Amino acid sequence: MAIAHFYFHGELNHFLPRHHKQVKISHFFEERASIKDMIESLGVPHPEVDFINVNDEYVNFSYIVADGDIINVYPISGMSTIIPSISVMPEPLSIIRFVLDIHLGKLATSLRLLGFDTLYRNDYEDEKLAQISYSQARILLTRDKGLLMRSLVTYGYYVRNTNPQQQILEVLQRYDLFKLISPFKRCLRCNGLLEPVDKQSIIEQVPEKVRSLLYEFQRCQDCDRIYWKGSHYERLQQFIDKVLNSQRDK
Ligand SMILES: [Zn+2]
Repeated sequence: MAIAHFYFHGELNHFLPRHHKQVKISHFFEERASIKDMIESLGVPHPEVDFINVNDEYVNFSYIVADGDIINVYPISGMSTIIPSISVMPEPLSIIRFVLDIHLGKLATSLRLLGFDTLYRNDYEDEKLAQISYSQARILLTRDKGLLMRSLVTYGYYVRNTNPQQQILEVLQRYDLFKLISPFKRCLRCNGLLEPVDKQSIIEQVPEKVRSLLYEFQRCQDCDRIYWKGSHYERLQQFIDKVLNSQRDK
């Protein structure tokens, strides 16, 4: 029987069972395994890992663990932008886009409201989510560790908060998105882009009381839904202001 000693740092302890948190984990093994598989067998999804150091050398996910290895595993931090060559994370995406699992419907709506390209359907299966994330280079947001451990998932993030309002702030902070917020640009229902539309051409599709009061309308290019600055608009604007202020207060 061989043994490897793991130290998981910082946030990665979140994924470990109680008796493994913040302590050295002595892991016994018989079969040859990559460090990626061994880290995941202990509970930590690979997309959450930024650096792995074995016996004072940085390694990548394919490293085969050897008897007596002392392994330090580090969470995502600012380090990867300073020394990208030692990070096990994929290249940063030039365009940030998301796909969300079925439990994150409210977060999906919030991301769309703030203008982020966000795929979400309440009937996407896990395999489909992993495939979309892989084939379209979309960040998979989920609270399902098993889903993040799928090998197809390169860009993924485990959303820590359960409260939707805190979830949106968490994701904006994690990916540094505050400067990219562009509200009222996307359809909340289907993620399509909105375009200004002539009032006369859609007059039949909006409630009568709105027709005389408002002049500006937008239409979703994909599902044709019409948007206007109605009563719900103020509530949405308040939400956006709150999000932006939370960043300013920091
Ligand atoms: Zn739409």
